[in-house]
Amino acid sequence: MKNIMEELKNAGSVAISGHIRPDGDCIGSCMGLYLYLKKVLPKAEIDVYLEKPSDIFQCIKDVEQIKDASVLGEDIKAYDVFVALDCSKDRLGAAQPLFEAAKKTINIDHHISNLGCGKVNHIVPDASSTSELIYDLIDKAELDEEIAKALYIGIIHDTGVFQYSNTSPSTLMAAAELIRFGFDFPKLIEETFYEKSYIQNQVLGRALLESILFMNKTCIVSTIDKKVMDFYGVTSSDFDGIVNQLRYTKGVECAIFLYENEFQSYKVSMRSGGKIDVAKVAQYFGGGGHVRAAGCTINGTQHDVINNLSLQIEKQMENK
Ligand code: 5GP
Ligand code: MN
Repeated sequence: MKNIMEELKNAGSVAISGHIRPDGDCIGSCMGLYLYLKKVLPKAEIDVYLEKPSDIFQCIKDVEQIKDASVLGEDIKAYDVFVALDCSKDRLGAAQPLFEAAKKTINIDHHISNLGCGKVNHIVPDASSTSELIYDLIDKAELDEEIAKALYIGIIHDTGVFQYSNTSPSTLMAAAELIRFGFDFPKLIEETFYEKSYIQNQVLGRALLESILFMNKTCIVSTIDKKVMDFYGVTSSDFDGIVNQLRYTKGVECAIFLYENEFQSYKVSMRSGGKIDVAKVAQYFGGGGHVRAAGCTINGTQHDVINNLSLQIEKQMENK
């Protein structure tokens, strides 16, 4: 795909959505595309469906327009086009019935584990972020400060502020063009990426304090169970950054962070220095992601989950 408008020019109605527990790139790419389509297709009905974004994303224009697909019930409208961003259809959550009902589906993503679920697919595993892909696909003459801000937030979140290996010259060129619009980008970086609430920092501290090194100190794991989550009054969105910090332990090649989603069901986040392909590990358990950052959900006791994950990591280490 060279230009998103080739696929959307005759659309009277478009729905945009991304993955459950939306992160910065998911929200940034959905809102960037939403703001863009509102502008270039003024007569079309454009809707964006996502789970409620964290408050830090209030700085994105029209974020309050995001619709909640979980309240639709049987009321599933057949949009002319459904655009699934930053995921495959199985992670759309409550918006998946809208995908199934749409007359045409487009899937834009950068996850290596996504084989493409749309009628039209634009899957670029080398891209830093889905937001960078949206930047590439839109008409630059129509860019404005609000679209630029949304896409910039997406890019900084998925590159860890241009620090991860997915950052390429074209990522930095896109970011350079985006900051030309003059928004206060250091403030966006601080307030959406680095700033944590006191409680979030306490939970981070606790996760670091209770972390355990294993496999000859090349792997590290830490868990937050339901009891601890209830004690601090935190939810999954409060855990952003913990697994990255664990990975920054000297000598650690692979970091795992688990939290108890439901009784004996753990959401797993993994980060690798590059030697271990954590997307492969996550895919083995039905999840997915990137070589250096991936996730999945595994049922069982905390010990089972860690043992099962270690086995897959060990297998890869042995093959090296
Ligand atoms: P995180 O650890 O930050 O939640 O996720 C790391 C990466 O893996 C992200 O790109 C995220 O979209 C992907 N990911 C996390 N959990 C899952 C999952 O359960 N399934 C799939 N397919 N991808 C996931
Ligand atoms: Mn992404």
